[in-house]
Amino acid sequence: KPVAIVCVGMAGSGKTTFMQRINAHLHGQKEPPYVINLDPAVLNVPFESNIDIRDSVNYKEVMKQYNLGPNGGILTSLNLFATKVDQILGLLEKRAGPDPENPNKKLIKNILVDTPGQIEVFVWSASGQILLESLASSFPTVIAYVIDTPRTASTSTFMSNMLYACSILYKTKLPMILVFNKTDVRDADFAKEWMTDYDAFQAALAADEEGNAFGGVEGEGMGSGYMSSLLNSMSLMLEEFYAHLSVVGVSSMTGAGVDDFFAAVREKADEFTRDYLPELERKR
Ligand code: GDP
Ligand code: MG
Repeated sequence: KPVAIVCVGMAGSGKTTFMQRINAHLHGQKEPPYVINLDPAVLNVPFESNIDIRDSVNYKEVMKQYNLGPNGGILTSLNLFATKVDQILGLLEKRAGPDPENPNKKLIKNILVDTPGQIEVFVWSASGQILLESLASSFPTVIAYVIDTPRTASTSTFMSNMLYACSILYKTKLPMILVFNKTDVRDADFAKEWMTDYDAFQAALAADEEGNAFGGVEGEGMGSGYMSSLLNSMSLMLEEFYAHLSVVGVSSMTGAGVDDFFAAVREKADEFTRDYLPELERKR
């Protein structure tokens, strides 16, 4: 069965560029993936997609017709699209399985899914959940959480980003790969270190605290009282979270790290079949 890779991440983290990169990589390996674009508001998709939400819903028209702003427009477009989930699965099953009339047909090994720039529209909406659950009930599905590495280099943005990733893991209950993107701008070693070495993160916290970016009142910073004890508890919680993740650094610009990413995909797909599938079947 093909593995579905769903790219999520904050707007601008590089999901679409990452999709383009891994798509090109698979084409290079003569394993063309099945590609789905779920972003109704994107102007140009830099890769060819087999299913494109823009073919069935016109985001601009939806905004006009329902008198909505951009976010409402995206959400409503996704809702309209989610009503077709059966057809989409039908198409996927057809492409994924053997064709009796064409036994030489090459089976697809990967399904790539790009999601709207605004992460919350997909992760926190009923239609996003329907699309994701339908996919996961048919194929091993992994989440690629794409992170803008240069923009997450301070301890506070890093912590916020990790908490967000953790909430998505908890919400989707699917295996997750953290993709530290844009390593051509900033290496991801600092992040890997912070995730494996508690003392290194504490030291970075203390250093960030000295040059408190928010100009906090002395004595009310991270080093004392409420913030410090909150941070300590969160660090402990995140340690448990990190233990369940794969972490890779990539550059969608140069292609560095893409092999590591696919190694992580194989690992997480196995994990899906071993740990997640029984749970899904138990619920059904
Ligand atoms: P999305 O909103 O998550 O889909 O993000 P995009 O793929 O549209 O990328 C947002 C911006 O980040 C664009 O200007 C990209 O050119 C840039 N970008 C994406 N990946 C990389 C990367 O690996 N390195 C660098 N330097 N820029 C990147
Ligand atoms: Mg995008």
